[in-house]
Amino acid sequence: MAQINSLIVATTNFGKIREIQHELDSAGLSFMTTRTIADLPGYQSPQEDQPTFIGNAIIKATAAAKYAGSWALADDSGLCVRTLGGMPGVYSARFAGPNATDTQNNAKLMAEIQNLDIDHHPASYICVIALACPQALVATFTGHLEGEITLSPKGSGGFGYDPYFFIPPLGRTAAELTLDEKSQISHRGIAIRSAIQWIRLNLPQLSACP
Ligand code: IMP
Repeated sequence: MAQINSLIVATTNFGKIREIQHELDSAGLSFMTTRTIADLPGYQSPQEDQPTFIGNAIIKATAAAKYAGSWALADDSGLCVRTLGGMPGVYSARFAGPNATDTQNNAKLMAEIQNLDIDHHPASYICVIALACPQALVATFTGHLEGEITLSPKGSGGFGYDPYFFIPPLGRTAAELTLDEKSQISHRGIAIRSAIQWIRLNLPQLSACP
């Protein structure tokens, strides 16, 4: 039986790890040590072959929890641009091809958008966090952030598409926000805080995997 005093964060994306760790640290779950899949010798990440964020988050969380014999949390997230029919969506990390860099993905985003004769490109960031123990998926949590794609990238914070993700009520891109500012409003911040609240509420029953 795996007690929830150890949590694997099933990602190697440094931008995600920084934002998730920031929320876990702020939550004061001091009884819980966190590691990432980089700390699991021999671990091979599963193929993310589902058409939905929730499907891929479940695959990643359940595979890591089973391998580590520990509770695990996975984030599947991405950018959905309405004028691109919701793309890149679940393909956000590999929009410009397998192993694409953020720079390559952003260049592809700009190329796709500039092909259209449209001024405004409303977009959403979506994040699904899945929580699993070694024997089962336990819960999923979702967050989203609304904005629009700008042709004039700004800022050097965050990661991925952040310099191009403009948030009208703030008048800034996601890359112009501090870690704390982004976490307060972001798809990931919202989803991870829901997960933390759920862990807190259910703590007495979480000594064993269901
Ligand atoms: P995943 O690892 O398959 O979940 O893909 C996540 C990808 O979505 C990242 O590599 C980024 O391209 C994009 N993404 C998700 N969240 C963010 C964010 O907060 N800022 C910028 N890009 C993001």
